[in-house]
Amino acid sequence: MAWALALATCSGAAHAANCQLTVEANDMIQFNARALQVDAGCSEVQLTLHHVGKMEAHVLGHDWVLARSADVAAIANAGIAAGFDKGYLPLGDRRILAATKIVGGGEATTITFSTANLVPGGDYSFFCSYPGHTSMMRGRFQLSAKESLAANHSPGQPSVGH
Ligand code: ZN
Repeated sequence: MAWALALATCSGAAHAANCQLTVEANDMIQFNARALQVDAGCSEVQLTLHHVGKMEAHVLGHDWVLARSADVAAIANAGIAAGFDKGYLPLGDRRILAATKIVGGGEATTITFSTANLVPGGDYSFFCSYPGHTSMMRGRFQLSAKESLAANHSPGQPSVGH
């Protein structure tokens, strides 16, 4: 599988793989994106969260958390119990696939996370774990399965993934 992904990345030279994301959050308790997508060829994703509002972190901060959609509610609830000092996230919870720290207005933070634990086409969501924000600040996260499309479009070549 890793071989197939690497080959797909190399052969898709027409445009660079989309492995970087920037998400904005504001004082209206909104992300500026309802869905995010990265190419399955990305071994790592670099994500920047920018709080474009003015509210301080302990008043109305935001973070960006990635998890399976089915785990979002449980993580958010555990995060509220964990409290602000823990970034409103349960420490060491393996259901959390990636997470930034909480930022306040005017601040930005960047994380890099591996896609090794993500399945192309899997049902993932990103959300803010700040208390009361999760229902409003939430969207789909997709690891696109482009390499399988590319394989389907080149019937003249032998399969590389045997
Ligand atoms: Zn938030």
